Amino acid sequence: MPASISPSETVDTVRDDVIGWRRHLHQYPERSFHEERTAQFVADTLATFGGLDITRPTPTSVLARLVGSAPGPVLAIRADIDALPIVECNTHDFVSRNPGVMHACGHDGHTAMLLGAVKVLAAQRDALAGEVRFIFQHAEELYPGGAEELVQAGVMDDVDIVIGAHLWTPLAVGKVGVKAGALMAAPDIIRITITGSGGHAALPQQTVDPIAVAAQVITNLQHIVARNVDPLQPSVVSITRIAGGTTHNVIPGEVELEGTVRTFDETLRTQMPKLIERILAGVTSAHGASYTFAYERGYRPVVNDERASELVRRAVVRALGDGVLTEAIPTMGGEDFSGYQQRAPGAFFFIGARCEERGIVQPHHHERFDIDERALDYGTRIFVAATLDFLGTGKG
Ligand SMILES: [Zn+2]
Ligand SMILES: [Zn+2]
Repeated sequence: MPASISPSETVDTVRDDVIGWRRHLHQYPERSFHEERTAQFVADTLATFGGLDITRPTPTSVLARLVGSAPGPVLAIRADIDALPIVECNTHDFVSRNPGVMHACGHDGHTAMLLGAVKVLAAQRDALAGEVRFIFQHAEELYPGGAEELVQAGVMDDVDIVIGAHLWTPLAVGKVGVKAGALMAAPDIIRITITGSGGHAALPQQTVDPIAVAAQVITNLQHIVARNVDPLQPSVVSITRIAGGTTHNVIPGEVELEGTVRTFDETLRTQMPKLIERILAGVTSAHGASYTFAYERGYRPVVNDERASELVRRAVVRALGDGVLTEAIPTMGGEDFSGYQQRAPGAFFFIGARCEERGIVQPHHHERFDIDERALDYGTRIFVAATLDFLGTGKG
């Protein structure tokens, strides 16, 4: 990098590309594990930059390695590329053209801003000692997720630090949230069937009504967080689906429930299935019903390493100045970025993407979710600055 050009000026040259890529990806969203066109677009775009070793560790992911001019450490930067099964209700001119599928979490932006960083850095290979590995990961939104597959495929072998970002509408554009320690929860899945005995709705005495029992179960499950868990220990138990019955005058034989459990602490996480089953067993037996219960462990919690977080903090200040950095607020949302953190110290951080004046205020996974595109430039600059910090030779 010529001494006269700062990282922030360098990124200006790709800002329009990044917005263009994001809008293209937004128009052609693909669901988790089906990102064929998206991965091809990423691979084709990367091929135009030159100097990269581009591979496809799985059918719908892309890995690009940029090896510097001298030996040194290995930095991995991850972007997720998948979309969600949501009918988009935005009206901008790059709305989804794949019916029923939408980039409603910002992964189109993640992909675009990392492509921007690759383009900038590929032109500065001589300024790098070591290797930077760009991971374009499929299937973040669908457990078991793409991260674990990519780790198994070896993308994290020899990596010293891994970083990744989420565009974040809870946070205003112009702010970047970084935090060492626990940032995102472990998202586990519960599936319950309550079996009673169906019959005529006018003759309830001849039945064991699983709807009435399910109502008791749901109410009692709220006692776990309210009464069984340390109030200083974050946790969530939510029942999110209830299905049973066919019409107004028939008591059904069975009710299905599904939901999610979110925790940070491993001890509490281990206790949760026992606490749930205790209530299930007690309530169903009190009313003569029976149950089945399955508890599926999801992603591990995202817990950021102090040194990796410090690398990101320095990059934010270097690329964007002092006023941008803020302490990230942890969330009970889950992320399979934690899969990479099992292999190397890592930091996941939030790039503010909300803008009240522009009406960009919707939560993630909303049918009118959008990002303030000015946030994309922040991501590209931070990735470039972190790479030059971690691998920089001071040459060029
Ligand atoms: Zn999401
Ligand atoms: Zn996401």
